[in-house]
Amino acid sequence: MSILLVEDDRAIADGIVDGLRENGYSVTHVVMGSEAILKVRNGGITTVILDLGLPDMDGTEVCRQIRAFSHVPIIVASARETEMDRVDVLELGADDYLVKPFGIRELVARIHAVIRRATGTGTPITLLTVGSLVIDTKERSVHVGGDSVVLTPKEFDLLTYLAREPGTVFRRSDILRDVWQTTWYGTTKTLDAHVASIRKKLGNPAWIESARGVGFVLKDQS
Ligand code: CA
Repeated sequence: MSILLVEDDRAIADGIVDGLRENGYSVTHVVMGSEAILKVRNGGITTVILDLGLPDMDGTEVCRQIRAFSHVPIIVASARETEMDRVDVLELGADDYLVKPFGIRELVARIHAVIRRATGTGTPITLLTVGSLVIDTKERSVHVGGDSVVLTPKEFDLLTYLAREPGTVFRRSDILRDVWQTTWYGTTKTLDAHVASIRKKLGNPAWIESARGVGFVLKDQS
């Protein structure tokens, strides 16, 4: 799978390239919007990660031009975070939108999601299955071995977050940022409480394992 990263900030680009390569992706990095369009034209790109502020043209224009000839999944990654920008890029045909700064795991999860959607039936995948655990992200329902599990909204968000990549350790700071939208580390006790509650409700504490000092990982218990 070849990811095309379009990013003019060298430090950000290096971090993303390293992170994606560690996760097994091959990555091509370009700085200019015009180069990006050319690369997609040449083929072999499975997903585009697109910055909006580029030296030669605006990312929204890159998005529009790629969409004129290609259905390749595009994830816009930008520090612009007004609602308007989100609407704009999605209307231009981008598949997803990530606000900088973001963690590499979050990016990988989004890449998986857009590729699944692109190669699937065209409808978003709403069922997450990890062994006997089945999460319906549209209905927001959870079943273990066919039994319904009632979670609070935040517990549901947390479990879904971990279940998108079973076996991957998610750092506390990433979980707090992505699920609670906070960087306030006082929330870490809240995180522990939610994990304890989910473990109890799932009927087996081994579903969510603590990686000491790092974070949490969902483990298949089927
Ligand atoms: Ca930029």
